[in-house]
Amino acid sequence: MEHLSERIRKLADSQTMAMNQKSRDLQAQGIDIINLSVGEPDFPTPPHVKEAAKKAIDDNFSFYSPVGGYPDLKKAISQKFLDENGLVYGPANIIASNGAKHSLANALMVLVDEGDEVIVPAPYWVTYVELVKLAGGTNVVLDSKIENDFKITPEQLEKAITPKTRALLLCSPNNPTGTVYTREELGRFADILARHPDIFVITDEIYEHINFSGKHESIASFTGIHHRVVVINGVSKAYAMTGWRIGYMAAAQWIVDACSKLQGQFTSGPSSISQKAAVAALTGDKSYTVDMNRAFLRRRDLVMELAGKIEGMKVSRPGGGFYIFPDIGSFCGLSAGGNVVENDNDFCLFLLEHAHVAAVPGEAFGAPNHIRISFATSDDRLKEAFSRIENALKKLK
Ligand code: PMP
Ligand code: GLU
Repeated sequence: MEHLSERIRKLADSQTMAMNQKSRDLQAQGIDIINLSVGEPDFPTPPHVKEAAKKAIDDNFSFYSPVGGYPDLKKAISQKFLDENGLVYGPANIIASNGAKHSLANALMVLVDEGDEVIVPAPYWVTYVELVKLAGGTNVVLDSKIENDFKITPEQLEKAITPKTRALLLCSPNNPTGTVYTREELGRFADILARHPDIFVITDEIYEHINFSGKHESIASFTGIHHRVVVINGVSKAYAMTGWRIGYMAAAQWIVDACSKLQGQFTSGPSSISQKAAVAALTGDKSYTVDMNRAFLRRRDLVMELAGKIEGMKVSRPGGGFYIFPDIGSFCGLSAGGNVVENDNDFCLFLLEHAHVAAVPGEAFGAPNHIRISFATSDDRLKEAFSRIENALKKLK
């Protein structure tokens, strides 16, 4: 007999991971798939980071690490917050985990009780709503519109708050839309939340360094709510280290202590080798990050131009991140060879089959009729992808 817990039965597969796997499977069959599904920098980890990891192996950093991370990593993270964000977090306010995804899971598990409500602006990153469910919480999804740059308004936030609200989940620069909230906009959210002392803010700032709109702003910098903000970040995107699995959280000590207790039972400390690599990334030469950001900006402009040429595709200009999130609603209801493209899921399957291009359906991000296209790949592949997409879409009548 097979039995799975209700908890796992209620959990959806990660659609970003699923589309990535599908692309890999097709590539393994020899099909030239252009994979614009998963979002990760296509650059290698900087050489000084790799060297630090090799040294860590030679220096026998092969033992269990402290649950929350080695002191030198916490110190480097603390310094990062001070230098880059003007935020004061001591080592007791910091915990390193196996990726920002893990940090997020920790935050939700220690803050959310059964029946608590978590406000999640849509489009949201696929993992948020599933982690909220896993924590026993209820997602309160706030819709936003492409015409408004996919931003929620302070009025929406205010209206969504109930006595059961436990947290607001923010992501800026945003995955999947690239939306970046200004300091003024974050300030308006902070003003509202200052009047609700039981609500926490979990702010996912993993795309901090992939930002084309000026200085990164963190809602944690508003003093009225600072002690109730949990900042999530990591080295995956800024330093092209997705496979190394180091993320971190900064928060009030009691939250960090609770996460440490959970992590101590669940995973123990993150990889000792990766931690040493993360120290090198955080304290070393930042020119790699600057160069990557420059490449992403160029590609942002390129995909805006290419997508703009496709009739029927409505795109908003991302201020950060490496995704565009076009509205493809005008293609829904059209068909090719008797097959109707009913929705964004069908649209992505159509692209995979007819253009050999992989993208992720917007439904997974709480925004049907959209798709997410990652532009974290070479300019030439992007040009080829859009030319294939354009040709394939001509078949839809
Ligand atoms: N948050 C967002 C918005 C992301 O896009 C990602 C990357 N998948 C993560 C968190 C997780 O990053 P990590 O690789 O550090 O787990
Ligand atoms: N940030 C990536 C994405 O959203 C990674 C995939 C994942 O972690 O789910 O595609």
